Amino acid sequence: MIAITVDIDWAAEEVIQDMLQFFEKEQVKCTLFCTHESEVIKSCSRDLFELAIHPNFNFLLNGENSKSIEQIIDELKSWYPEAKGIRSHSLTQNTFLLDFFQKKGFIYEANHFLPYRKNIQPFYLWNSLFRIPFVWEDDFHFMYDHSYNDLRIDIEGTGLKVFNFHPIHFFLNTSCEDDYVKAKKYYHDAAKLRQLRNSSRAGVSDALKNLISQIKRLEMESYKMIEVYNHYANEEDKPS
Ligand SMILES: [Zn+2]
Repeated sequence: MIAITVDIDWAAEEVIQDMLQFFEKEQVKCTLFCTHESEVIKSCSRDLFELAIHPNFNFLLNGENSKSIEQIIDELKSWYPEAKGIRSHSLTQNTFLLDFFQKKGFIYEANHFLPYRKNIQPFYLWNSLFRIPFVWEDDFHFMYDHSYNDLRIDIEGTGLKVFNFHPIHFFLNTSCEDDYVKAKKYYHDAAKLRQLRNSSRAGVSDALKNLISQIKRLEMESYKMIEVYNHYANEEDKPS
């Protein structure tokens, strides 16, 4: 089973729209982990897009934010009340947070990154929150200095394959860390970002396009995370 997720990471509306339009054009489903209030996201097709949340707890760890964990989550839930899934920005997690996510009504979490790992099976945590790991992320691929011509994932292999992308890297077609470092200061300036878009080497946008054409060629499908949950979560495996 294959799933594509997107961590919004406070991207500008035009940058988000660019990515969503791509999924619409391809008629491919994906799950958006939302960081902030976005009209583009709020009005997107729920047939194609599942909305989950992507809270940032880093400020709390730095002692910089007066908001509590609950306030951070409640604010996101007020914009995206349908969210059943959660992935923290920077993948922040511990037992306290995972228990809190479960108490706030989330049924799955996606904080576990196992780069390029095969044979992934999602599973229940101690508190019945369902853990859905992911095996590929756009920025880690350039961190490892891997080429975007090869995602290094066998999409026909056994187990679950969850891919994670960011709108900023799709928009920039980021091919290496340097592409992003140059563009970072214009994070919310879509016109400037467009000028900085990489077209000389294979990048994140090319990788996503290739992934989707490969999925279609093999007559496979990309599922929403809630569909992954429904497929793998078995009541009998729930811890009692
Ligand atoms: Zn993030």
